[in-house]
Amino acid sequence: MSLRSSLAAALAAVDDAELIALTRDLVRIPSVYRPGDPTANEAAVAEHVRQWFAKEGFEHEVQTVAPGRPNVVASLGEPGEATTLLLEGHTDVVTEGDAAAWRHPPFSGELAEGRIWGRGAADMKSGLAAAMVAAAALKRSGVALGGRLVVGALADEEGDMLGVKHFVATQIGREIDAAIICEPEQNELCLEQRGVVWARVTIRGRMAHGAMPEAGVNPITALGALLGEVRAMERNLRKLCRRSRYLRPPTVTPTIVAAPLHGVAQSNVIPGTAQVTLDVRLTPGPDEAAVAAEIDRACAAARAACPEATVEWQPVNGYRLATEVDPGEPLVRAMVAGVRDATGRRAKFGGVPGSTDGTILRMTRGIPIVTCGPGHRLIPHQANEHVEISELTEAARIYVASAIHYLGV
Ligand SMILES: [Zn+2]
Repeated sequence: MSLRSSLAAALAAVDDAELIALTRDLVRIPSVYRPGDPTANEAAVAEHVRQWFAKEGFEHEVQTVAPGRPNVVASLGEPGEATTLLLEGHTDVVTEGDAAAWRHPPFSGELAEGRIWGRGAADMKSGLAAAMVAAAALKRSGVALGGRLVVGALADEEGDMLGVKHFVATQIGREIDAAIICEPEQNELCLEQRGVVWARVTIRGRMAHGAMPEAGVNPITALGALLGEVRAMERNLRKLCRRSRYLRPPTVTPTIVAAPLHGVAQSNVIPGTAQVTLDVRLTPGPDEAAVAAEIDRACAAARAACPEATVEWQPVNGYRLATEVDPGEPLVRAMVAGVRDATGRRAKFGGVPGSTDGTILRMTRGIPIVTCGPGHRLIPHQANEHVEISELTEAARIYVASAIHYLGV
């Protein structure tokens, strides 16, 4: 088959009704990770994905990342020298919050107003289902791809990204040459993602009676000085980072403040320790050392305000730097052509406001990643999360056409 006839055959094999049903099924299997509850994890939804791939006759493997937290990885085509493209999704979802705030119950997967409703409808059971159905369409159409297509349904994206960190160290993970991250980005092609560092700053002083502050060292004095540095940090990081057409500039946001860290909070006790967490968002440019130097500078200013205190910080879950991919990359060119063939429109480019599993793929493996999937960019983690059916079915076709353009036939 020629490229054109392969495209036509594979696009015609995308079954919209099946895709809608699969997305609804995945939404109906809750997969909020709740530590301490052995049933609240990705196990059930991952098993559904595994059975689906087994029924479709895909080679697949289950990677145990942690108890009850498997990755499911399916592939089409033989391993070996061939170019390998990954369609990546995560199986976990964030909490539904207050279920009463939802117009449709959060795990109902209800179909109304041309949308599927529920937690994970956008982020990202729809994107995962679109990847699965795209792979099935390629398989059923009999198109002989010039490389291997892998679909990864990974655990724990919303937490520590344990699933992708595990995946990149496995045999199949090391064989990936490029990845499409199927996160909700309104089917735009996102070549850039903001990075994040959660800087947890711990300040140690000396406990004392509140009536005799001269007898102690108050860590809250240093904490206050550190908060006073936040705007300057933001300004400096904006100078270090490149301006982006698609990403908002760097921000520094205090998110957690705690004191005392031990014992009971009492009005007449100067605490021995205090802690503040800064959510530092980045655009491409600086490396880890440059970001660390800026946080160090703010900590030094805090120390100067309270010289007897010790001020230390560490990144929670390491550094997730901003990523960017050159528009000239073969993956990007394949997706531009894929969007055109799947939708008849020109590709629209965008940027990812947060980090994704793609951040880890890019940082550890250096491979090109493009984030593109169904669902409004701002809807994740909100009540009344939903996905437009039209975007969902379009996404599956974009994945089919992009895979054919990238891998060849
Ligand atoms: Zn997500």
